[in-house]
Amino acid sequence: LYVTVEGLDGSGKTTQLERLAAWLTDAGHTVVATREPGGTEVGQLVRDIVLHHRGDIAPRAEALLFAADRAHHIATKVRPALERGEIVLQDRYIDSSVAFQGAGRVLDPEEVRRVSEWATDGLYPALTVLLDLDPSVARQRIDAAQKVFDRIEAEAVEFNQRIRAAYLGMAETEPQRWLVIDATLPPDEIAAAIRERVMSLLAT
Ligand code: C5P
Ligand code: MG
Repeated sequence: LYVTVEGLDGSGKTTQLERLAAWLTDAGHTVVATREPGGTEVGQLVRDIVLHHRGDIAPRAEALLFAADRAHHIATKVRPALERGEIVLQDRYIDSSVAFQGAGRVLDPEEVRRVSEWATDGLYPALTVLLDLDPSVARQRIDAAQKVFDRIEAEAVEFNQRIRAAYLGMAETEPQRWLVIDATLPPDEIAAAIRERVMSLLAT
């Protein structure tokens, strides 16, 4: 089973992935928890480039760097784990690129998707959870946590509005793959909603 989680920074992806991983592990499953960018040693180098040189990278180059991280990650870590019958829980995937490099950076979202589909040879998860959040709420949460802004959190609210709209559009187009959850709900309720969908996928 392959599950990805998407959302703005501050939407609670990390918390929910940790909770889901703990629950599945307790139930006896082998879980590989991973992320993009940076799920591999090579990917960590790519992550450093894209996150520490923001603004100096041409949009198409940025899109290719994310796709390169993804190609290596899927080939060397995700596909092998899935072939071993393990559960892969992943923080961000192709949909992040469509939203951030496409809708956010104003490249053509469908072209960005095709680049990633080539990079991964078309691998898609059975489930993508969207933790949907208003960008101004996301910003408040990040400010409250006083996180260091070495990341894209420094982006404008309008940028994040485009990201949010892109995610919601993708979820509407492909409702069988997406589970959209209001990220302002209590974390316990969010975790329960995710578990319910995962349980039904494990039963099929
Ligand atoms: O989710 P994570 O904190 O690892 O992402 C690091 C940063 O990279 C985030 O600020 C996210 O918005 C950005 N990002 C991006 N394009 C992607 C994936 C992540 O701009 N495809
Ligand atoms: Mg994060």
